[in-house]
Parts: sequence; C-alpha cells; structure tokens
Amino acid sequence: MTHDKTASETAEREGPDHFIRDIIRDDLASGRVQGVVTRFPPEPNGYLHIGHAKAICLNFGMAAEFGGRCNLRLDDTNPVKEEEEYIAAIQDDLRWLGFDWGGTAFHASDYFDQLYAWAEGLVEDGKAYVDDLSGDEIRALRGTLTEPGENSPHRDRSVEQNLDLFRRMKAGEFPNGAKTLRAKIDMASGNINLRDPVLYRVLHATHPRTGDAWCIYPTYDYAHGQSDAIEGVTHSICTLEFADHRPLYDWLINNLPVPAKPKQYEFARLNLTNTVLSKRKLMQLVQTGKVTGWDDPRMPTLRGMRRRGIPAAAVREFASRIGVARADSVVEYGFLEFCVREVLNRTAPRRMAVINPLKVVIENYPEGDGEMLDAINNPEDAGAGTRQVPFSREIYIERDDFMENPPKKFFRLGPGREVRLRYAYYITCTDVIKDGDGNLVELRCTYDPATRGGDSPDGRKVRGTLHWVSAPHAMSAEVRQFEHLFLAENPSAEEDLLAAVNPNSLSVLPDVKIEPALATDPVSTQVQFERLGYFCVDPDSTDGHPVFNEIVPLKDTWKKVQKKG
Ligand code: ATP
Ligand code: MG
Repeated sequence: MTHDKTASETAEREGPDHFIRDIIRDDLASGRVQGVVTRFPPEPNGYLHIGHAKAICLNFGMAAEFGGRCNLRLDDTNPVKEEEEYIAAIQDDLRWLGFDWGGTAFHASDYFDQLYAWAEGLVEDGKAYVDDLSGDEIRALRGTLTEPGENSPHRDRSVEQNLDLFRRMKAGEFPNGAKTLRAKIDMASGNINLRDPVLYRVLHATHPRTGDAWCIYPTYDYAHGQSDAIEGVTHSICTLEFADHRPLYDWLINNLPVPAKPKQYEFARLNLTNTVLSKRKLMQLVQTGKVTGWDDPRMPTLRGMRRRGIPAAAVREFASRIGVARADSVVEYGFLEFCVREVLNRTAPRRMAVINPLKVVIENYPEGDGEMLDAINNPEDAGAGTRQVPFSREIYIERDDFMENPPKKFFRLGPGREVRLRYAYYITCTDVIKDGDGNLVELRCTYDPATRGGDSPDGRKVRGTLHWVSAPHAMSAEVRQFEHLFLAENPSAEEDLLAAVNPNSLSVLPDVKIEPALATDPVSTQVQFERLGYFCVDPDSTDGHPVFNEIVPLKDTWKKVQKKG
C-alpha cells in the first residue's frame, strides 16, 4: 500500500537551515497559520536577474517544502515604466528556472477597484486625506531621522472635502502631481515611513492592462500588503530595504477591512562580485550597447545566464547553498561558477575541441582515411556510453600544449618528448616547422601503433595527455569566451559604471576545430570540451557555422580561493 504523499513530505529540504524556515515551522506549529502561501512580486520594468532567483527559490521553495503555494504577482502599479514585453519574459524565465505558479499570474492591477474602495474607506474613517503639496514640498516637510516632520496645511480637511477631492482625482480633474492621497498617521513618528505616506498619486498614463481606466495609481506601500491580504499570503518575504516599511505594512493591514493578516519578513538581498544586480543599471548596459541585449551571455540576468548555457539546476543549487540571512553580504562570483561546474560535471557529455589549433603531421601513420577510436562520453555517468572519434595522419593540438624549450614542470609536448593523445596513441615530436619569420607552423611527430587506445603494453609512462582533433574530419566553429563584465569587485561603487565595463569581457575565437560528433549534438545541450571547460551552442549559430559560448572554464578558482582562505 502506498499513500499519496503531501508536497511537504515529498519536497526535499534544500540547503542549510535558515530563519525564514524556522518562522514558518513555528507559525504552523503554533497554529498562527494553517498553511503556507508566499508570493514572488516582480515589478515588470526589466528582466529577472540572479538576485531575483534568490527570492524566487526562497518563496517557491518554502511553499513547496510546506505543501503550500506561491503566487506570481506582477507588481504593475507604475504604468510609466512597465511593458508587456517584461511580463512575458518574467513568466518565461520563471518556467525556465523550474517553477510553477498554478497557471494564473496575478497582477496588482487586478485589485485596483478593491484598493480604491478601501482607500475611500480610510478617508471616511478620517485616516487619509487629499494633499495639494507637490512631491518636493512633501519631502521638505517630512523632517529627518532626528527632526520630526510638519503637518501639511491640508491635513485637516473634512471627510466630505477629502472624499470629494479623492473622487475628483479619480475622475481625472487634476493634472499629474497636483494632488496625492496620504495616510493620516503621525508626522512626528520616529519612522519616516509613518509620516503620512502617500497612498495614491495622479498619473495620466495608459496602463498595459487597465488601459485608460485609471489616472490615479496606488503606491507600492499601499498596494503591496493589501494585495498580499487579498491573495491570502501568509508570509510576505522581501528584502531588507523594506524592513523600515514594515510598521506601515502593519498599520495598513490593521486599519483596513482586509480578509487576512499577512506578515512581512525581510532577508538580505544577494550581492555578487564583479557584476551589478539592479535592473536600472542592467538597463543602462543594454541601452548604451555595452552588451548586446538583456540576454547577452555576460549579463547576470536569467536570460543571459540561460544563453550562456548555465543550467537552471545550477542556479537553484546556488540559491540554496548561499543560504538566507538577515545581514547583508557579498557572494563571490566564483561560487556561482563552482555550482555550475558541479552540475555540468555530472551531466555534460565530453567532446574534443581545439581552440587554438597547431597542426601535427604524424609521419609514420599511413596516408588515407584513418580510423575510428572509442571515446568515453562522460566518466561521471556510465550510462552516457561511448562514441567514435576519427583519427588520421594529420591532427590539431592546442598551441599551448607545445613548447620548444619547455621548463621542467611542463609535462606536455616538446621536441623529442612523448605524450599521450587521449583515446588514441602515444606520439613523439620529431621536428618543428617554422615559416620565414620564425613562427611555429606545424609539428612533425611519430606515433607508436602499439599504444592504440592510449596505453603502452610495455608499461612506458608519459606525463601528459593531450586532446586533439583529426584535421581532415574537423569542423570549424566560433567560440566566444567571457571575462567578468566588470573587473572591479564592487562596480556599483565606481563613479562611472559604463566606463568600468571590462573592455575584454568578450573574446571571439573565429576558427576553433571541433570533433564531428559536435555537429549532431542537440542545440542547447551543454558539453565539456575536454581539458578546457563547459560550452554551449549559441542561437547565433547558422548551418555549417556553429557558435559556442564558454559557460565556465574547467579550472576551479573557487577551490583555490578556499584553500588560500
Ligand atoms: P532592482 O533593484 O533590480 O530593480 P527590485 O527589488 O526593484 O530590483 P523587483 O522586481 O521589485 O525588483 O523585485 C521582485 C522581488 O525580488 C522583490 O521581492 C525583491 O525583494 C526581490 N529581489 C530583487 N533583487 C534581489 C536581490 N538582489 N536579492 C534577493 N532578492 C531580490
Ligand atoms: Mg522594485
């Protein structure tokens, strides 16, 4: 007999324990909540980035772990900056990341009628008023952390007057910025967010979903908690910058006839070295052409990472391992790469490609078609099987794998030295061919036919094993390699962000030699080029001209950093 397991029984607890999980556990145990409802509330004014992925994995992860649900709510309260393009992209990126919000995306704009009705209720209760002050004037009277604010001269309008003005705001009688609706709380509050915060502003703008139905729009502070309540959200998880807004969140929930009492919890946002995680800054990079688009493989957007070839599983793994804390911190970019390698090492088929080719002629190998050799697809996955790799008299090896005067510790090829060609034979370098200017053009070698498959029957050892590609069988490909978008660890601190972009963040290798099996691998499958790194086919590829993105090199700088530290 089996019984249907609840989602909380089947969901794996991912990664280290953290305070949000503790809170949810306690709330369930004490009966404060009967189930868990979270939400992910992006503002559709840009594409999602890896910082969002942290919030996504936390919100969807907690809901899954405790058998609850997580809503996707597009926080579309600012029609000026928002576009349908972003709404579609956000949903597509979430799906790619592996999350499901039950089919229907919610929008804050779905609640405009209800939010307005509640606002009228606040006016009727004498808890909100219409102000004529401009944004600047409101700021000027708001006071500081040490000084209390001053009441607006319009603060004491009668309920009737306020109701009339608020309705006329809605009816479109006033130009942008002429009036606001403000909560009447306390201009002397120690918390500036409680000094009569603005709830509605006049904005004559067409909204992507509600069109021209509205010319007043709610602020984030007003819309957010009430939307949570409408959706029955139990744990409204957001980033630390909203901690000071929590008293306002609670004030609104407690002063409105909302159907539920959600609570807000704050965690530290993700900061990552050598990049920026702000939609505004990422937008600048796109608009100034510093990158080719939101999906440029160098971008920390989910789009960019996906095009780069980073698997969604690696992003989830990263999000889980960095944990959730209350204190701000910065995560080393190398840790993301570490997570990518961990996933790809298990899953990526191995292939051979020579990114900086040097021709080798094996003089004692018979002329003709050559032969096929067995190569292992993935030593980490026996099920991945083997493939046939063509070998012939002329091959390419990596230029870096040869030195004319090698130092002692160089175990690769040099004049008179013997090395192993992976899955093939031992070869010995017999001659070095140069052009008239003394540049290296080609190597001449001999091979030992007894070493077929890569082992010597007489037990003769070689120190180096090289990857290679048969020259007549090789296909040509373009490879794009990437460095950090910014050399500065904290580019946001740079005076001129655009000037701080690493000019060498993209290098293009136009003529990389790849083994023919790569021609038939499905697009979007990540592969390991042996001894080099992980690569993925880019959508810029055309028939006969594949383009590969380097996802991450094999060398693990993270482990080195760890050892040093
Ligand atoms: P940006 O500064 O890039 O515009 P944002 O916070 O304004 O980011 P939203 O679309 O409002 O972007 O964010 C949706 C959710 O994602 C919010 O709950 C926000 O707290 C969370 N989030 C945004 N950036 C990060 C980050 N770097 N780390 C963790 N969570 C983040
Ligand atoms: Mg925001």
